[in-house]
Amino acid sequence: MYIDSHCHINFPELAARMPAILGKMEENKVTHALCVSCDLPTFPDILQIAEQYPHIYASVGVHPDYEDTPEPTVDDLIRLANSPRIVAIGETGLDYYRLEGDLEWQRERFRTHIRASRATGKPLIIHTRAASEDTIRIMREEGAGTDAGGAAGVMHCFTESLEVARAAMEMGFYISFSGIVTFKSARDLQAVAREVPLEYMLIETDSPYLAPVPFRGKMNEPGLVRHVAEYIATLKNVPLEQVAQQTTENFFKLFKIAH
Ligand SMILES: [Zn+2]
Ligand SMILES: [Zn+2]
Repeated sequence: MYIDSHCHINFPELAARMPAILGKMEENKVTHALCVSCDLPTFPDILQIAEQYPHIYASVGVHPDYEDTPEPTVDDLIRLANSPRIVAIGETGLDYYRLEGDLEWQRERFRTHIRASRATGKPLIIHTRAASEDTIRIMREEGAGTDAGGAAGVMHCFTESLEVARAAMEMGFYISFSGIVTFKSARDLQAVAREVPLEYMLIETDSPYLAPVPFRGKMNEPGLVRHVAEYIATLKNVPLEQVAQQTTENFFKLFKIAH
């Protein structure tokens, strides 16, 4: 069995095809998925999906790329996370690739999420792009992962160096690989994935984006996470079953889900 640790099935293009999405998961033995929040206005939809489907979990948070959107306070996040269906805070983090100018608001928003994670004991889902130095620095400054009962969080859709991966793992963070790792052009990332121990690894789709090879360029969905696992197994030269089992176990442990 496989778990998609990060998807956006509430996005209209996927939500409109929910029966087919769930069918594809079943067909590919993808038993669970985590539907990740990007802003507060769509959070009720996400909570509703997680309440409707027992094998779909959800998070609460505001994405660093969302500029004109209601800004969450620590209290907002704590209040909205108060449901057993909400297993994480995020996605949050820094993205200096998509946005330019004075991004102090992004760093402040990131700090807010880390504080909410520490207060609730729910792990963080961190997005970092072209901003790894500040990301790691703020994680350290805010004590990300501490007070959260050992469940620090995950660096999602990881595309950074091994050095950044190691800094995150030292703080108790898991490293999650998406379909990007299967791309021909992703040599450096493949080298990183070879070095990251399976005990620290999660797999994800980040659907509807980033479909793995052989579906690159098509619309992604949670059922396709199996192809990420297959690629990692080949890359690390270990049985597929081992990748499936370890990443599944990691998911339940990180998000404190009894199974
Ligand atoms: Zn992201
Ligand atoms: Zn995402």
